[in-house]
Amino acid sequence: AAKQSNNAKVQFFAPEMEAKEIRLLKLESDIHRAIKQQQFSVHYQPFVDLKNNRIIGAEALVRWYHPKNGIIYPDQFIEHVEKLGVIVELGDFVLLSACKQFAAWRRAGFDLEKLSVNVSSLQLQHPKFLERFRHILQFTGLPAHCIEIEITESVLVGDAKRTIRLFRELQSMGVRIAIDDFGTGYSSLNYLKQYPINVLKIDKSFIAEIIDASPNSGLVSAIIAMAQSLRLDIVAEGVENDWHVHYLQQKQVNIVQGYFYSKPLPPQDFEQLLETPNLPKHKAVATH
Ligand code: C2E
Ligand code: MG
Ligand code: MG
Ligand code: MG
Repeated sequence: AAKQSNNAKVQFFAPEMEAKEIRLLKLESDIHRAIKQQQFSVHYQPFVDLKNNRIIGAEALVRWYHPKNGIIYPDQFIEHVEKLGVIVELGDFVLLSACKQFAAWRRAGFDLEKLSVNVSSLQLQHPKFLERFRHILQFTGLPAHCIEIEITESVLVGDAKRTIRLFRELQSMGVRIAIDDFGTGYSSLNYLKQYPINVLKIDKSFIAEIIDASPNSGLVSAIIAMAQSLRLDIVAEGVENDWHVHYLQQKQVNIVQGYFYSKPLPPQDFEQLLETPNLPKHKAVATH
């Protein structure tokens, strides 16, 4: 009978749930340690200008070099970093590393004009965001006009007045504001009128819809037309093949990123790519 009641107690916790809780606790303590021990690092994925097949800049993407588990990607930890309240620390680290690296590359003579950094909603809402951002620019010497801040639509559901003021302040310095993963969030199209935005990044799920040469299929052509009529710049992410390149070129969407050109790379590899720019040229594809 004693054994039975023991079992009954255990039943309260489904075994897989217990394992999940333990994993989460482990992850949380690992994140705290990772911040202290600087296990994070920034990778760079090139932006390619289709008009001249040239690298004009990069998006900074954080990576976690876990001492036991190896490299961990942000989709697996950013959310937890936010929950633990250490996103400001991580965000500062990414911004500082990327600005420092970019300034160094520019001083070395590489013609890079656009560094894009993902900034989470909590980071942007921090009262000292602007102050810290200015310090980082001053310290690294990277001109503000090189920087694009990528935000997701979730940023735009908060205090609109404050966000608009912040965007204007950043823009007056020369910084550009991009909406990342456009079309995947909850917000209405109304915010495109309401908020001062410079760039719209078409989410890779819409680019993946381009599967042949038909010029107006799918949501992607509607998104492009809308951005163009609002005079927003467009960046296409997730460009993976000849079709994508060909299609975007026809639509005059010239700034692209994706595995067709390069995955995000550690700094040394990105630098090598800059030195030997043998980017793939897309093959002509049959059109109707
Ligand atoms: P994102 O900002 O939309 O970044 C693009 C993601 O798409 C990156 O994933 C990139 O590696 C991936 N990607 C690029 N080209 C292709 C392609 O051709 N095909 C496919 N299938 N994927 C492609 P990653 O690096 O794993 O980052 C995931 C997300 O994590 C980012 O999405 C961004 O939202 C977030 N993130 C990354 N770094 C940071 C950071 O420093 N701070 C914050 N707050 N978020 C970050
Ligand atoms: Mg991004
Ligand atoms: Mg994106
Ligand atoms: Mg995306």
